[in-house]
Amino acid sequence: MGYHEEKYVKEAFDTNWVAPLGPNVDLFEKAIGDYLGEGLHVAALSSGTAAIHLGLQLLGVSAGDEVICQSFTFSASANPICYLGATPVFVDSEADTWNLSPILLEQAIKERIALGKRPRAIVAVHLYGMPYKIAEVRQVADTYGIPILEDSAEALGSSYKGVKCGGFGDIGILSFNGNKIITTSGGGALIARKEALKKDAVFLATQARDEAPHYQHSAVGYNYRMSNVLAGIGRGQMEVLDERVVARRANYDFYKRHLGHLRGYEFLDEPEGSFSNRWLSCVLTPSFEAREEIRLALMKENIESRPLWKPMHLQPVFSEAASYTDGTSEALFDRGLCLPSGSNLVEEDLERIVTLILNTRS
Ligand SMILES: *Cc1c(COP(=O)(O)O)cnc(C)c1O
Repeated sequence: MGYHEEKYVKEAFDTNWVAPLGPNVDLFEKAIGDYLGEGLHVAALSSGTAAIHLGLQLLGVSAGDEVICQSFTFSASANPICYLGATPVFVDSEADTWNLSPILLEQAIKERIALGKRPRAIVAVHLYGMPYKIAEVRQVADTYGIPILEDSAEALGSSYKGVKCGGFGDIGILSFNGNKIITTSGGGALIARKEALKKDAVFLATQARDEAPHYQHSAVGYNYRMSNVLAGIGRGQMEVLDERVVARRANYDFYKRHLGHLRGYEFLDEPEGSFSNRWLSCVLTPSFEAREEIRLALMKENIESRPLWKPMHLQPVFSEAASYTDGTSEALFDRGLCLPSGSNLVEEDLERIVTLILNTRS
């Protein structure tokens, strides 16, 4: 936590605003909106997953549709497609950002259209905080008139050509889950370019209550709004977001400085114009075996590390889904490791980790 979270949570108690609405919710949304700039509108929700669910619905996804989704991601990018009765079609990554390949994306869209199944939306992800190929993905999407759901759950604080991630999609989403760069313990947000879209999101997130003195509903709603108590945590967290980005980037720089020269080790540099929050520091090791040796050596010292995300097209739950792949994400999954990346790591911790990794090579 930062400096003022408890104060804002106490405000919620002192004023008895213990509900999924209230001043902290409004002020947290305003803080995010001010941070992202570009006149964006923010709806604070109960999770990033809820935001993706509402976002896809607001983009028009419904039962029987197909939705293209980056394969190399966390399952929460894809699960809401299924909640809506739609079907995911997975597309592989490219090597420069580890995100959605614009070439495979276009190939997939063309083939789905030829099969009579025009995709309803594209879920593109800024994985580990690295912006996806914003301009190229946008160009493909616009060529075929398909909207983008920008999954920025891992990329608050990242930017592309000076513009913050979260506002590049037709709808964007953020996550404030406990493992993200800032947290409300659990929470998320939907980012909209137009205020009317935010209003629609809030309407659906609060049980779709029509305007009437009694309870009346003409749509199926959800209970997806953020609690005013948790939004108090969020207000405090927004004050330290920039510090967190500096700390996370310093972790990455340290690892790269001490491991980057080793044969077979690779780090993902920022392509021109991209700025990553370096939510997690990831390294590609020489091989699956080397990766496992490092992971187990760290685990022996009670230090957690984890393989990169297992691609969705390899997940048992999505074994039936169509996919357009070229081996990129499978190779990343094979060789890649997320190193300890907390904002509170000190130089001593990082030195210990690096020494253990170097020792696996002797
Ligand atoms: C964390 C995460 C989500 C889901 O966010 P929750 O707030 O945990 O529901 C979605 N997509 C990606 C890429 C994530 O990392």
